[in-house]
Amino acid sequence: MIIITKKNVTKEQIEAFRASMHARGLDTHLSVGEQHTIIGLVGDTTRLDIEAIASLEFVERVQRIQEPYKKANRKFHEEDTVIDVRGVPIGGGHFQVIAGPCSVESEEQITDVAFKVKAAGATLLRGGAFKPRTSPYAFQGLKGEGLKMLIAAGKAAGMPIVTELMDATDLDLFQDVDVIQIGARNMQNFSLLRHMGELKKPILLKRGLSNTLEELLMSAEYIMAGGNEQVILCERGIRTFETATRNTFDVSAIPVLKAHSHLPVCADPSHATGHASLVPSMAMAAVAAGADLVMVEVHNDPAHALCDGPQSLTPEAFAQLMPTLKALRAAVTAEVKA
Ligand code: PEP
Ligand code: MN
Repeated sequence: MIIITKKNVTKEQIEAFRASMHARGLDTHLSVGEQHTIIGLVGDTTRLDIEAIASLEFVERVQRIQEPYKKANRKFHEEDTVIDVRGVPIGGGHFQVIAGPCSVESEEQITDVAFKVKAAGATLLRGGAFKPRTSPYAFQGLKGEGLKMLIAAGKAAGMPIVTELMDATDLDLFQDVDVIQIGARNMQNFSLLRHMGELKKPILLKRGLSNTLEELLMSAEYIMAGGNEQVILCERGIRTFETATRNTFDVSAIPVLKAHSHLPVCADPSHATGHASLVPSMAMAAVAAGADLVMVEVHNDPAHALCDGPQSLTPEAFAQLMPTLKALRAAVTAEVKA
């Protein structure tokens, strides 16, 4: 971190500031110019309050050099993190596909979809039981009952399951859930993130509707700082001025996240686009961009789905897409290795 002082700074102010930084275990380097003095801080500055420093009377400007996240940062952890989800490795060169309906609607529905996506090559099963809906009058999910159906379907098909938790008070029900999803709307629910930090379970953390990648990484840092380093980052589209798609799929988020972090990166082309017809091409784009996982909504009867039917693939369309994704992944990784 670099602090540029105002012209009229006094020696006493500089020395008092340096002493306070030394007391916090940081080294300081001074560069005295004609107009300004520059103080460089060396060491772990992640715990410093940049706004408090910027508001000091003698400070003109503060510039961060290092990112404010440490545990999620590739600079401090070069190797890709590999998360083992009941024998399914995530990250570190492995490619996985999560598939399933937006919401669990019945035992028959989730079991049927589970067997079909598994046969097509999906390795993890998704299904929402607690649904974050914009309208309080919309279907809110089958909650605890839905969770039981998902757990049973995952067991029957032999697939680990991924499902969203909205409220930490429901955690007791999630014991048999393999990956807990923190949805876009809760990406900055810091008390929920702290609860996730106390668990020993992988967390799929979705990017907020209007959040920067640095904010996403800071939310991952919350979970990791609590002791749970099993975090999967997920790009799911962001809010822009464009209305042709439900959200705008930020494909470049994938390589940016992979460059800045060692955590596995997932892409969700279903919520990113909102249209089933756009999902295959955007899933391919995600694979080409280096995603470690792709999450696709698949419903056995999209026209009658209780949630997100328009963006759901049929099991047949999903089965058609899978070989293309696998071939693309092989081509992309061969390219990377060459
Ligand atoms: C979901 O995956 O079902 C979901 C609600 O996603 P998001 O939080 O990205 O909107
Ligand atoms: Mn959905």
